[in-house]
Amino acid sequence: MKPLLGTFYLLGMLVPGWLGYDRSLTQQRQEVVGKVVSPWRILETYPYNRYHPMGEIYQWMSEIREKYTEVVTQHFLGMTYESRPMYYLKISQPSNNPKKIIWMDCGIHAREWIAPAFCQWFVKEDRLWRKSRSSHNNGTCFGTDLNRNFDASWCSIGASHNCESLTFCGTGPMSEPETKAVSSFIESKKENIACFLTMHSYGQLILVPYGYTTNKSNNHEELIQVGQKAANALKAKHGTNYRVGSSADILYATSGSSRDWARDIGIPFSYTFELRDNGTYGFVLPETQIQATCEETMEAVLSVLDDVYEKYWYTNSAIKAKSTALVLSLLMSIMSLL
Ligand SMILES: [Zn+2]
Repeated sequence: MKPLLGTFYLLGMLVPGWLGYDRSLTQQRQEVVGKVVSPWRILETYPYNRYHPMGEIYQWMSEIREKYTEVVTQHFLGMTYESRPMYYLKISQPSNNPKKIIWMDCGIHAREWIAPAFCQWFVKEDRLWRKSRSSHNNGTCFGTDLNRNFDASWCSIGASHNCESLTFCGTGPMSEPETKAVSSFIESKKENIACFLTMHSYGQLILVPYGYTTNKSNNHEELIQVGQKAANALKAKHGTNYRVGSSADILYATSGSSRDWARDIGIPFSYTFELRDNGTYGFVLPETQIQATCEETMEAVLSVLDDVYEKYWYTNSAIKAKSTALVLSLLMSIMSLL
């Protein structure tokens, strides 16, 4: 993070929150949340090497916000299909200088537990710290794959119109409240967003656009180069191998992904991280692997941020802004889709 610390540094985090609850929903929620809050009470002892239910993540968010009131603010993003509010925490150094933004979301696919674990880890290291629930066909099947619901060649390939499918693309592009909320937020700030990262599992991959075509984006080589350097940094930590390439080339064809959408609206660096493992445990990655996974992913993300800073900020913005101090924002989200 060296180059970033040399600048003003902003970090934001999208989080679900508690306000605005319908009482009946709150009650349902309490049944889930009430029984799972584990014994930790203070931020300093929060076990980052464990998976936490949303109730605990909410509590962790609150403690982060309360402990760092000078740099952390909480904002409303939108509501989920089940009327749970989504909030983001914007973590920023007070500054009047122009700001740039990095987006990072974790957990848009609910079963990929290691992804939210990483977002929390990332916040800690900074010392600040599959489907949705919508109802279809008269309530006979549930859930849209939010990462097939973005407006990027929507539902053309690698997605299904059948609501019983795991990759159901929804009833139209951005038909889901969760994707609407994310996309309108990102859209409103896209001029200033240099990098979009979406964290998933599993497969040990760093994916660049596109999934809906084998055609390449106009900075494809640069994306691969930055991604490969990140994969090298990741491997240097614990020896874990990652592959780098476009989704269509090295994983499978997908349409309507947030990564492709972000690149299509002009965000230059857009990546999907598929974290550990390669299928041994799959989505149920053991807690004993959280720490190592987060440590190595940290190296990779920092490598990307370093490169974005060098390639984008320094060369583009610095020339335009000359002596204007540059500001980085990181926006991270943890989705509440359970
Ligand atoms: Zn995923």
